[in-house]
Amino acid sequence: MLEEFKAQGTKGLVMEEVLLWETGKKGRIGYSLPPLDVKEAEIPGELKRKEIDIPDLSEVDVVRHYTRLSTWNFGVDTGTYPLGSCTMKYNPKINEQIAAKEEFAKVHPLTPEDMVQGPLKLMYNLQELLKEITGLDGVTLQPAAGAHGEYTGIRIIYAYHKKNGKPKKKILIPDTAHGTNPASSAICGYKPVKISSNENGILSVDEVEKYMDEDTAGIMVTNPNTLGLFEENIRQIADIIHKRGGLVYCDGANLNAIMGIVDLKKSGIDVLHINLHKTFSAPHGGGGPGSGPVCVRDELVKFLPCPRIVKQNDKFVLSYDFPDSIGRVHSFYGNFGVMVKAYCYILSMGSLLKKASQLAVLNANYIKENLKQTLHLPYHRPCMHECVFSDKDLGKYKVTTLDLAKRLIDYGFHPPTIYFPLVVHGAIMIEPTETESKENLDRFIWAIKEIVKEAGKDPEILLQAPHNTRIKRLDEVYAARHPVLKGY
Ligand SMILES: *Cc1c(COP(=O)(O)O)cnc(C)c1O
Repeated sequence: MLEEFKAQGTKGLVMEEVLLWETGKKGRIGYSLPPLDVKEAEIPGELKRKEIDIPDLSEVDVVRHYTRLSTWNFGVDTGTYPLGSCTMKYNPKINEQIAAKEEFAKVHPLTPEDMVQGPLKLMYNLQELLKEITGLDGVTLQPAAGAHGEYTGIRIIYAYHKKNGKPKKKILIPDTAHGTNPASSAICGYKPVKISSNENGILSVDEVEKYMDEDTAGIMVTNPNTLGLFEENIRQIADIIHKRGGLVYCDGANLNAIMGIVDLKKSGIDVLHINLHKTFSAPHGGGGPGSGPVCVRDELVKFLPCPRIVKQNDKFVLSYDFPDSIGRVHSFYGNFGVMVKAYCYILSMGSLLKKASQLAVLNANYIKENLKQTLHLPYHRPCMHECVFSDKDLGKYKVTTLDLAKRLIDYGFHPPTIYFPLVVHGAIMIEPTETESKENLDRFIWAIKEIVKEAGKDPEILLQAPHNTRIKRLDEVYAARHPVLKGY
């Protein structure tokens, strides 16, 4: 079956590479200049560079070293990267080119406002677009990531209750929330209270009713939740929370499932963070950089961080004149480069953003429907941008989710997210994103089916995987306990 799919994979040229300290040879150099024909200037002692121990290398040594190292890695430009919740989609290169333009990339953050009207206008316009996309009334672009957005949003909720003279102690968090949610609440001084999702994998109105009281600041809902399911009771849940004096926080990191389709304000959301580096196309992973703007409803706009970009006549200025603001959450104004990429993406997509969401949802459902006979599907409902399987059907072969994930690498795919969310045993969380073609999805489905067949025939193949990579199966416990952190 599908012979041509076998072309994908990591067999082939895998270059060994040693450290640059072993490659270097005294006197090698990366440039050539004509001999000095003037007297060499005397460098004062205190300005003289100290001899440091770095290898001498030629240009070709350096270029090949880093190019080879790059082939050991797997990125969105290498192939399908279905890492659930992380939205690893292909990012158009035009965004990179524009963000790298000197006028954006080389602006010093202390440049007077008069001289950076362009970048300020870009940020202002991006905020306006995000308002339009989410339906909310005010935006800050300062937070540098999703979790940082959560922290900012919960601080705003805290400031709101404090201003009303009713500080509260708890916050409700469903078991299908992203792991950063309880952490962000705790860091802002709230006690996270876990509430359970129902048999359909979503929150029931009754469950929220049971836990919501006057001492609870509100609820943090991830929507779509980490099972890839839409919280369809959100409007009724929001009404209960509001009636008892709370606010509704939505973790909208995965807006790519609902943008242009759901009006967050109408669904009762007061505070929302979104991840520009997921939904709005910026390469991410390995620690950033990211951008996690926070959007709020009218009543909360006054609490947004300072400085804020304000339009005065035809000029854009950074204003600190907001006495109720929670203050700064980032030096200067956050990760500007990511904002440029998101702005380019939104402008170039226009009304197609809605189509991107529809395709992300279609692709995930295509995978779910095609694999539900192969892997155990715990929730039989239409999913949003990702689908989650369990390890229930793998047990009989004596292999685990981890073994399946490792074997996928041999087939040329980045493994999906595994063992998350915790509500599904041995979870396999697949997010194909809208940028994968049907052929790529078919290849992925074929690979999973082949691997499950292999598990039936010879589980050792999975237990020893990956076979085709430079580094084979790692002892993860040993690696975590004895990390090698020095470069040489
Ligand atoms: C990715 C993600 C986050 C965290 O975002 P970071 O930018 O990694 O801090 C939070 N919530 C959800 C649902 C996410 O998918």
